[in-house]
Amino acid sequence: MTREQTPIVRFRGVTKTYNNFTAVQSLDLDIARGEFLTLLGPSGSGKTTTLMLLTGFETASSGTIEIDGKRIESLPAHKREIGVVFQNYALFPHMSAAENIAYPLRVRGMGRAEVEAEVARVLATVDLADKGHRRPGQLSGGQQQRVALARAMVFKPRLIVLDEPLGALDKNLREQMQEELRALHRQIGITMVFVTHDQSEALTLSDRIAVFNKGRIEQLDTPEGLYRDPCTTFVAGFIGENNLVPGRIEAVGSVSASIRLDNGRLVEADAPNRPLIGERAFLALRPERIAFAEVGDASAIPAKVKQCTYLGDCYRLDVEAEGIGLLKLKLSGTIPTPPVPGNMVQVKFSDRECRILADR
Ligand code: ATP
Repeated sequence: MTREQTPIVRFRGVTKTYNNFTAVQSLDLDIARGEFLTLLGPSGSGKTTTLMLLTGFETASSGTIEIDGKRIESLPAHKREIGVVFQNYALFPHMSAAENIAYPLRVRGMGRAEVEAEVARVLATVDLADKGHRRPGQLSGGQQQRVALARAMVFKPRLIVLDEPLGALDKNLREQMQEELRALHRQIGITMVFVTHDQSEALTLSDRIAVFNKGRIEQLDTPEGLYRDPCTTFVAGFIGENNLVPGRIEAVGSVSASIRLDNGRLVEADAPNRPLIGERAFLALRPERIAFAEVGDASAIPAKVKQCTYLGDCYRLDVEAEGIGLLKLKLSGTIPTPPVPGNMVQVKFSDRECRILADR
């Protein structure tokens, strides 16, 4: 394997416990050189702990971590050559943007002229060439974010880690910064490891996403792969907000299975986590894959509208479907008469749009 092909970071069997609590459990993870990898999961799932183990702010209870093929567990944080960006930026308020960015170079003992040249270079990269003299308090949230990024990359680290760096920004600025970050990653080509609990942010930014749940990675895949092919009920619920309709498995094939829903319908679909015959399992069904049925459609399911919200580009509906239970729908396009809570409607979905997932 050439250097380019070896993962830049390799976790093997990494566990972190605090007293009796296991925050990260038996983590195996390879991070590819140059990729934008996101650790995504709910609060407390172990994302930040994983970053801290990588940066050296925390020590693993067991397991090994390599950077560039070399064990780093005994290397102190400042020798790991990792750039770090936190949510609150952690900029020094009394220093100008340029002085903040110069700091990592100064502590490494770089000469004055070279520091100035390097700071000018990264200020231009993050499009702040004319703002270097300003203190953080004289910059907007987005500009402070860019200073924090510039400071993380100025010493040419081996990779950059970012812990919820856009969490403090309002929605518009956050979306703008997502685009900037993506463009910057393409431009400088450095490996980035990003933590968020926001699935749409993860889908927008990442080459790959590791979905964390209870200290473990449930699934690691591209955004498209996770969205199209969730392999567990947790991932299906977290990404794409799938409905999880319960039923009982009646048959299993090599890649598919058949599930009998509580309304009597038998659905055959792909079944990636190998459910067993007789087992209770779930049909994962994305909200945008459920439609209103035409009058007389034999597969239609009567449903009572519980809630209907207009979101500009779509309607979001909660309906109580007969024999199935609560379903979330997302209907795009124009609807002649928007449904009102209490109305009866007919809904349908096709077997091809579903996946069958055992509850594990
Ligand atoms: P968030 O999005 O809320 O930051 P997270 O997925 O990053 O969540 P972690 O911060 O990694 O989660 O925390 C994982 C678990 O470990 C949590 O239950 C947390 O309470 C626990 N934990 C983290 N640090 C410590 C500590 N120093 N002492 C005890 N427990 C800790």
